[in-house]
Amino acid sequence: MNSCARSSSASGRTPSEGLKRTPLRVEKALAYLTRGYKQDAESVLNGAVFASDYDEMVIVKEIDFFSLCEHHLLPFFGKCHIAYLPDKRIVGLSKLPRLVDVFSRRLQVQEKLTMEIARAIEDKLKPKGVGVVMEAAHLCVMMRGVEKQNAQMVTSSMRGRFRSDVKTREEFLELIKIRRT
Ligand SMILES: [Zn+2]
Repeated sequence: MNSCARSSSASGRTPSEGLKRTPLRVEKALAYLTRGYKQDAESVLNGAVFASDYDEMVIVKEIDFFSLCEHHLLPFFGKCHIAYLPDKRIVGLSKLPRLVDVFSRRLQVQEKLTMEIARAIEDKLKPKGVGVVMEAAHLCVMMRGVEKQNAQMVTSSMRGRFRSDVKTREEFLELIKIRRT
């Protein structure tokens, strides 16, 4: 975490006043941005699962998320859309954004993140199906490498009826109106 100070002194300059506490700040920021490692899906969803006869699709869309790519430690961020088909159990809606946080506040790759969210919902709710779609901009692509500033990465994880039934999947995709680029 001393790379900021190091690169400054490597250039032959003494670190400016503003840089002195930077290693400490970076360390604190990183701890905050990876706090998901200290949380788990189980404790977020516990106590928020309720019995219900509701059996139509439940969707929570456009959940903002911020994560760090595990290859470059650069941010990727965007929207997460979640849907599930309940089977006698529903979950408090405010819990789904918190669940997204648990997994996104770690070092991640978007494909794995998408899958982990879907799997946690499947494990806890045992729904008839679950679908998760994530759209994100990756700073490691935008600021370096190919420098494609407008590239959005879209990943999805479809389980149960969302995988086996085209109609269910299409209803979900239609309702979230995924931006096609
Ligand atoms: Zn990256």
